[in-house]
Amino acid sequence: MKQYRYILNRQLSLEGMIQEIRELPEYKAGLKAFLQIVEPNCLPEPIQKHLNKLHDGLPGVRIIGMTSHGALSRETHSIRFVVCSILFFEKSTFEIDVFNCHGMTPLEAGKGFKFALREYKSPKAVLMMSSDFSLCPEPFIDCINEFDHELIAFGALAGTNQMGDDKSLIFVDNQIYNRAILAVTLCGDDLHFACDYNLGFRSLGKELVVTKSDDVGVVYEIDNKPAFEIYGDHLGIERNEYFFENTSSFPFMLRQNGHYLARVALDYRKEDGALEFASQIPVGSTVSLGYATSQYLLEESYYNARRMFGFHPEAIMIYVCMSRRMLMGDDLAELEFDFYENVNPNATWAHGYGEILHAHGLRGFLNASLVAVGIREGEVSEEEKKKKYKEVDIPKEYFVGYRPLSERLVRFLESTTSDLRSAVDQLFRVASMDELTQIYNRRALNHFMQQQIDSFGSEGQIMVLLVDIDHFKHVNDTYGHDVGDMILREGVDRVKSFVTQKDIIGRWGGEEFIMISPYSSKEKAIEVAELIRSKVEELDFEVAGHITLSGGVTILRRDDTVDSVFKRVDDALYEAKETGRNKMVFKD
Ligand code: GH3
Ligand code: MG
Ligand code: MG
Repeated sequence: MKQYRYILNRQLSLEGMIQEIRELPEYKAGLKAFLQIVEPNCLPEPIQKHLNKLHDGLPGVRIIGMTSHGALSRETHSIRFVVCSILFFEKSTFEIDVFNCHGMTPLEAGKGFKFALREYKSPKAVLMMSSDFSLCPEPFIDCINEFDHELIAFGALAGTNQMGDDKSLIFVDNQIYNRAILAVTLCGDDLHFACDYNLGFRSLGKELVVTKSDDVGVVYEIDNKPAFEIYGDHLGIERNEYFFENTSSFPFMLRQNGHYLARVALDYRKEDGALEFASQIPVGSTVSLGYATSQYLLEESYYNARRMFGFHPEAIMIYVCMSRRMLMGDDLAELEFDFYENVNPNATWAHGYGEILHAHGLRGFLNASLVAVGIREGEVSEEEKKKKYKEVDIPKEYFVGYRPLSERLVRFLESTTSDLRSAVDQLFRVASMDELTQIYNRRALNHFMQQQIDSFGSEGQIMVLLVDIDHFKHVNDTYGHDVGDMILREGVDRVKSFVTQKDIIGRWGGEEFIMISPYSSKEKAIEVAELIRSKVEELDFEVAGHITLSGGVTILRRDDTVDSVFKRVDDALYEAKETGRNKMVFKD
């Protein structure tokens, strides 16, 4: 594989580049190739001219591309040059599919693509581009994952040169699309990939829960308040035309499979203060605001680029968010490219609306990140292995000596956040524990139950079990209150040893206990309740001997409230007591 990158500026015209490519040995040898073109403006006419010239000037070379992102704020420069990159394939191959999404959903496109994939020999990765931003690419990526979960997907959502005015486009050969998904499937057993996900943003402040959202990326409420207020409260901004400029350096942070993801709000809705994202944020997601300093961003990309060097990529494709440029300024943002150019001088890049990476457990859609994908055909040559990474000179004044006010404030907030979070954790522990048994108390159980109701469906079916010790008054009366207390304490300890970590157990009151377990079913709930009943019956307490339990079990329903679900298990428990005790009763 061989990659060549061209930046079209005053020194090099499109015609000049075509001429240079025609002189390349790989081109002359007729190697299969595609050229990625990234256009800094969204004007169909000049873009069409470029595509026609490429198409006519480089017969046999497939062309893919997208529009790039313009300046995000008055402090960032827009990128005014066209960036092209041509990839020649020696042993491997590629296939190009494009799905016009006027009248087709991303899911339907994904299903069509899954069908196409079946025909391809040894697909290894899919380079994706899409336009426009209301076209959420995640269902398409999910289809790729369903086809083969090891298939990598990477790329970007096309950008637009003016924020708030989505004129993004993608291109295939000499065709332009304004609402479509493009997929280049890279095939061949000799292909190897190394994928870097660089974020560097960190979570700041209080964690909040999404309480109302839909499946196309609109978040209506957070902690039951209009979503916009997270910005109103934390950043003191108002609902006006500077929304994106004011908020894009403070993305939402959420966790997915052990990674932090950032989500940049693209816009807000005047009527109800809802926020619009390019991807779904489900109800029940825990979010906080994110922030970064240049140092955080650069440290991560430097470290990852150094590691990428060990992979010896023959090509590097970078997809990066403009918000990094906004945060670091143009000079420092360019350093990130330098890190990767020192791995491979032909590394190419594109700024879009959002990055795509489906690898390392990431589901696909990213924001505020730099995704770098290294590609190699075959093994590394001995000569290649001898090469050394050429260090980048990072101007020292950026990181030592005088620190900009914004960075000092960030440090201050960071330490305040960490103090606050441990104080909140400590308070929560004290306020939510039952003193005698050292498990959750009624207040905490109410809280967890509400959480399960808010995120209904996200953790599978939820079982709720309420148990009450049979004839406990008699135990107290016969052996004394102290023996009763000891049974409660030791009984709970024993039960703890045979429930799993995901089970929440707590004391509902007196000698009544609740267990809330995710990932259950009616059959499993009955089985677990019965297991607890029989295990407790077997316990042999000092002095008092054996005790028995009665219980009510149910599965959480979509229309449940905290009160309705507790009433249902209480009714079931009552029935167990009425019909003989030492038994579990299930109620739908
Ligand atoms: P059943 O549930 O089978 O109907 O009979 P019961 O005797 O257990 O009746 P009930 O549940 O109504 O009574 C609960 C008794 O549990 C009352 C009280 O003596 C005892 N109890 C409640 N909390 C504690 C506690 O913290 N320590 C002790 N030792 N006893 C408690
Ligand atoms: Mg009771
Ligand atoms: Mg009882």
